[in-house]
Parts: sequence; structure tokens; C-alpha cells
Amino acid sequence: MEESKKLSDIKDFGEFALIDHLTKNFSLKNASSSFGVGDDAAVISISETEVCLLSTDMLVEGVHFDLMYTPMKHLGYKSVSVNVSDICAMNGIAEQITVSIAVSSRFSTEALEELYSGIHLACENFKVDLVGGDTTTSISGLTISISVLGRAQKENVVYRSGAKEFDLLVVTGDLGAAYLGLQLLEREKDVFKANAQIQPDLDGHDYIIERQLKPEARIDVIGFLKELGVQPTAMIDVSDGLASEILHICKASKVGCHLYDEKIPIDTKTSMTAIEFNMDPTTCALNGGEDYELLFTIKQEDFEKIKGNPHMTVIGHITDEKEGIYLVDKNGSALTLKAQGWKHF
Ligand code: ADP
Ligand code: MG
Repeated sequence: MEESKKLSDIKDFGEFALIDHLTKNFSLKNASSSFGVGDDAAVISISETEVCLLSTDMLVEGVHFDLMYTPMKHLGYKSVSVNVSDICAMNGIAEQITVSIAVSSRFSTEALEELYSGIHLACENFKVDLVGGDTTTSISGLTISISVLGRAQKENVVYRSGAKEFDLLVVTGDLGAAYLGLQLLEREKDVFKANAQIQPDLDGHDYIIERQLKPEARIDVIGFLKELGVQPTAMIDVSDGLASEILHICKASKVGCHLYDEKIPIDTKTSMTAIEFNMDPTTCALNGGEDYELLFTIKQEDFEKIKGNPHMTVIGHITDEKEGIYLVDKNGSALTLKAQGWKHF
């Protein structure tokens, strides 16, 4: 009897190794396909000077969101925002989205109207047009898949792969808040499940909760960079946690990096909540994710242009690949940077 071939478990791969594995035999056949898998968005040539940017993100109930504490309106807003963020990460402007939903009969029309009111608000704020989508039934729960189309001048597109030795590593806004917002919402959900009489205690935590439920794609930063005349050498958005994103830039650019832990921007409200949860704020910023800030590298000569800018913080510098990727603490001791990130499988 022929022995059946042992099938391999997808858990044996990480998310990124699985994508590499599944896509390795595909090559680009069309001259217009400038860049395929491997960055925040695909790059498609439309003229000598202009490109289209194309990206997709899917949000699955029970994996990416929990409707016990996620208002439908916020969910709609967030699902657009995370897509627009990927276009920002290429230094482009998002212009159109399509929205596809798979929805079970558990949902009312009113609930879907709420979802679409959030999508509408995001379309207004990010100046994108809803131009299509697909609607289908699901056996259980809700899945939202959004594709976004953006535009950029070919010469302005920023890839993950452009970082060079001596460049400065910069991050926008502050990190870790979205993760702690999630911890807080999960804690209050558990309290509620244990005793439905107890009202959630979210007072004073508006900032971190908003960062989790209603992240803002940094289209403003793309404007600031243009005004300042700064063209990043590499860029990515922070969806999986700072550590994971730094590793992506270093791998794609074939460089090393020194990240200084005391430079990582963390809001006081985030640090206080981390301490309340017995967690290290830096670890939350490194591995938490869902901040949707931008992480980029700039040439040293551009430092003067961003110096003192309240939206941007220099957190490290790029080194030769052979030097490795390190997290340096205030005493100067260096630890190899590792990414925990999100593990959905
Ligand atoms: P991001 O976090 O910026 O949304 P991902 O980590 O989801 O990016 O994806 C990394 C790259 O892999 C992107 O270029 C994306 O288009 C591509 N990718 C992800 N999943 C698949 C898939 N199932 N098939 C083909 N390409 C994929
Ligand atoms: Mg991204």
C-alpha cells in the first residue's frame, strides 16, 4: 500500500515565509508590472512618469476584530485607514477603494449601514472614492476585504529596499498605544463576561482606545515630507510592531541597524497603562503593532529638515549588513532585535 504523503502544517511557516513560499514561482510578465509582491503596495507603470499603487488588506471577525467591543462604524473607518496607510508607505496618494464583504445572516441592515458610515467618513477624511466591491454571504461572521489604488510620480515612490548605511531611522507619532488599547478592551470584555452587571471601566483611556479602534493613516506625513523636501530612502507602515517593520526594511535593503530604545516615542498614557498591565512599554512598542505610523530612513543631510518636527523622531541609524540588527539600551548594551509580531496562524 502506498504511504500517504505527509502534509505540512501552515503553522510551520511564519506568515511571511508562507507568502514567499506560495509566490516564489510567479514572475512578472507584463512590462507595466513594475513591482509585485514584497512591499506595502504593488507598483504599476501607467506612463513614463507616473505609477499606480495597488494594495489589499483583509479583516476577519474573531481574528482582527471582536464585535463585543468594536463599534461597526469604527470598524469601517479602520478597514479603510489600514489600506490607505499602505499607499502612504510607498509615498503615494490613495485615490480609490473597492470594498468587499462576506456577511452572515446574524447581521442587520442597520449594522451594515453603521459599517458603511465609518467607510464613508474615512473616504471623506482620506479623500478617497469608493468605486466598487463585492457582497456575499458567509457561514459565520464578517470579513471585510478592501483594495486601494493610489498614485505617485515614479521617481517619488519609496520602497522598503532603499535604506543605505549611515541613513537615519525615523518613526512618526508614537507607538504601543494601539496594543495597550487592545489589552484594555480585552480585560474589560473578560470582566463583563464574568459579570454582565459590571460596567466597563475605560475612563481616562480614550487615547489608547481610539488608537486601537480608529487608527489614522498618516496622509499628513506624506504632505509634510513633500513640503520639507525630504525623500525617504526606504519606508514601511507600522502594522505588525516596530521590530518586525525594522527587520523588513533591513532585509529588503540588505543593511543592519542600531535602534536606540530610549528614543522610541511612547506617549505617557501608553507607558502608564503598560505599567498597570505589568508590561514593559518598550516591548509593547516593539511588538504590539497596529499603530499605523510610518517608519522610514532618510539621508543624514536631510536631518536638519526634520529636526524638531513634532511628528517625527529619529530612533536609530542604518549600518552595514554585517554589523547586524541591534536594539541598544541607554547603557550602550546591544541586543539582537527580534520580532514577535502578530501570529494569526
Ligand atoms: P502589509 O502588512 O504591508 O499589508 P503584508 O505583510 O500583508 O503587507 O504582505 C507583504 C507582501 O506580500 C505584500 O506585497 C502583499 O501584497 C503580499 N502578499 C500577502 N499575501 C499574499 C498572497 N496570499 N498572495 C500573494 N501575495 C501576497
Ligand atoms: Mg504595510
